[in-house]
Amino acid sequence: MENQCPICGGSSLMVFAHTAQCGNCKALLYHPYPNQDYPALIDKDAIHAASLNWILRSSFSRHDAFRRMLKFSIDEALVGEELKILDYGGGPGQFALVCHSLFPLAKVYYTDAIEGSLLDP
Ligand SMILES: [Zn+2]
Repeated sequence: MENQCPICGGSSLMVFAHTAQCGNCKALLYHPYPNQDYPALIDKDAIHAASLNWILRSSFSRHDAFRRMLKFSIDEALVGEELKILDYGGGPGQFALVCHSLFPLAKVYYTDAIEGSLLDP
């Protein structure tokens, strides 16, 4: 399960630091996902507190990982393009901020299974 692609179920993940790419569907993934239980979905204050706690512990390493993921996966020559990017499992939404700093015209679509994990900008 640890090295199974959550998108296609393939088992050929190529793992980098905090990132993996599926050898089957080519999706780039945050890897590994944290092994923590999230609070009940109806407790938005607890979700916000857990999300903020995670951000405070990981913000610098995640920023670096997002920057490396973007530079690895998108050619710098596309900096002026109106790219459409899906942030699948976007959590607090920090990926979009890093993405916009590198690709200012990109439109980042966001989804997350945990309502309330997106922080105010
Ligand atoms: Zn896959």
